[in-house]
Amino acid sequence: MFTQKAQAFPNRRATDQHTLVEMQLAALAYQNLPAMLGVNIAATLGVAFLLYADGVSYLPVWLALVFVLSGLRLLCWFFFQRYCANESREQAKVGGWVLLYTLGLHSAALIWVAMVFITFQLATSEAKFTVIVIISALAGGATGITAPLKYAGRIYITILLLFTSVIIYWVASEHWVFSVLGLVFWVAMIISHRNNHYVLLKSLTLQMENKQLINNLQHLNAELELRVQQRTSALERIAHNDALTGLPNRLGLIDWMEKKLHADNPQEAAILFLDLDRFKQINDALGHEVGDQVLRMIAYRFNEVCPDDAILARWGGDEFLLVTAQADNTRERAETLARQLIDAAIAPLCIRDESLGVGLSVGMAYFPTDAINFQDIIHAADLTVAEVKRSGRGNSLIYNDIYAETQKRRFDLGRALSDAIKQNELTLAYQPIVNALTNEVETLEVLSRWHHPSLGVIDPCEFIYLAEETDRIVALGDWVLYQSCSKAREWRRQDSAIKLAINVSIKQLLAQNFSGRVISILQETAFPPDALILEVTESLFGEAHLDTTLVTVTQLRSFGVEVYIDDFGTGYSSLSRLHEFPVTGIKIDRSFTAQLDKQGLVIIESAMLIAQKMGLKVVVEGVESAAQFDKLLKLGIVSMQGYYLGRPSPVPAIRSSKQ
Ligand code: C2E
Ligand code: MG
Ligand code: MG
Repeated sequence: MFTQKAQAFPNRRATDQHTLVEMQLAALAYQNLPAMLGVNIAATLGVAFLLYADGVSYLPVWLALVFVLSGLRLLCWFFFQRYCANESREQAKVGGWVLLYTLGLHSAALIWVAMVFITFQLATSEAKFTVIVIISALAGGATGITAPLKYAGRIYITILLLFTSVIIYWVASEHWVFSVLGLVFWVAMIISHRNNHYVLLKSLTLQMENKQLINNLQHLNAELELRVQQRTSALERIAHNDALTGLPNRLGLIDWMEKKLHADNPQEAAILFLDLDRFKQINDALGHEVGDQVLRMIAYRFNEVCPDDAILARWGGDEFLLVTAQADNTRERAETLARQLIDAAIAPLCIRDESLGVGLSVGMAYFPTDAINFQDIIHAADLTVAEVKRSGRGNSLIYNDIYAETQKRRFDLGRALSDAIKQNELTLAYQPIVNALTNEVETLEVLSRWHHPSLGVIDPCEFIYLAEETDRIVALGDWVLYQSCSKAREWRRQDSAIKLAINVSIKQLLAQNFSGRVISILQETAFPPDALILEVTESLFGEAHLDTTLVTVTQLRSFGVEVYIDDFGTGYSSLSRLHEFPVTGIKIDRSFTAQLDKQGLVIIESAMLIAQKMGLKVVVEGVESAAQFDKLLKLGIVSMQGYYLGRPSPVPAIRSSKQ
């Protein structure tokens, strides 16, 4: 009964279990108080009825005492209930309440003892028996009802039974049997109270321990849950972020886009694909550690530029993506952002006391205008940045459908190119380089031609670039060399002095054992090495591969093969490099010939001067008219090439077409 109700003070946070048990015991004692008072009043009224008949004069005083005391105890109960219900109290202090309860309890017992005293002096036997029965019943009931209070209950029983026994013996010794019975009862009731209190205390303690255990388990559970949650979010962070820069990775970016961009929203969002320029060189030349540092610094700078409502993510390698949220003025903002990002990238980076420079190419696409699918829109921005790279880097472009078509064409052509070599779709054209003084063809430049079965004639600039991109240039170059050298043996029977000029891409030159392969093809085709000219652009002088190219060119020269710098003046060749490399001559680019009336003349004159000083031969390309021919001749240029002197043709012109 007690344990079921032992949930008083539901809002208390007891500091220790002992205090909590004490609180519950006090609450239990008070819970039983109204019932106890009810029984008391009923017994009082019963006794009053009997004594009234006996005409006991103290009866009103006694009754008044009982009612006043009961009233006070009821008030006490009432205030205790309020005290218990008050949630703001941190911890219940029950000592005072127990004292009040005890005072009321013991006073009630004393009042009953007083009644025994009166009854055994003045009343009839019936009244005496009734009082004895009531006292015994009250003491019996008290073993359970006052069990929560260890001492108060036992004193109550003692007052009721022991005091009564003594008083009976004192005022009416002829009833000594009652006194003896009272003593026996007292001992029995005290033992019963003690047992009841013990059981109650034990069950409350166990209940508290259980509660504590459950609390601990709940706490442990909550702690475990928190840890699982923390782990889950840590794993999520790792999965969604790039470890090097701390920026969101692809997953993180797509996640953000899924949350922020909705195709049904009429406003636009910009996708800026950021691709670093010259990062590979830094990585190759200075190592990955420096490369990583560069990426971290660049990521930091980009992040500074990135607006709060946009996301900056690392897409992979040296590629980043900035996506803005949907807004009205997206295009203006995107273009400003692109400029700011380029500026942020080109500012020098100081790493290990070295000042390094990277650039930035930016491809922009707009969602949902250019595509509504996230992968597609990123792809569109990626295609655009590839276009920026091709058109000179360090700039930004906005997506155009043509880029996708171009890319598709490139992809198709790239795949078709390897078959083209195998299926003999490639042919060769020969363009003469003429001695302007004698009108004799000195050299035939070999130029590749590709006639695709469905796409028609493909511009050499396009397929040579593709071959370089896809590394098929090595196989193509070997084929050109083999074919032209084997055919050239025939013409050399007519003109033994005629030479062959073959274009060689820097990728071929850097390929494994290039010079060895050239020599073996020359041997196979029995073509004399000193009749072969290899044309390489100024990319030959690129810092990243200087050592390799220098060795290869030196080896080729040692066999007698000549090496010319093609399209001279369009790239970057320092005079010292020109001096270091054992090249034979330069071919001045046709763009200068086309501008002979303007600064082209000055450039050709300067190039000639340099070539003379360095002992290099000079060929001028792109001679399209008699006027150009005459002007160049007056300048002292002997070797010329151009449509005026002969167009590229599948059948080589041994004589110049110039009239
Ligand atoms: P290039 O080596 O500078 O070749 C000369 C290019 O200029 C040729 O274009 C030729 O047709 C063109 N040309 C010659 N005279 C004139 C002229 O008077 N006016 C004008 N406007 N153009 C003239 P083509 O055949 O389209 O070749 C373009 C480039 O493709 C070549 O430039 C060369 O770099 C490359 N290429 C061609 N075939 C091969 C090859 O087999 N291997 C390699 N690696 N590159 C090749
Ligand atoms: Mg050439
Ligand atoms: Mg050229």
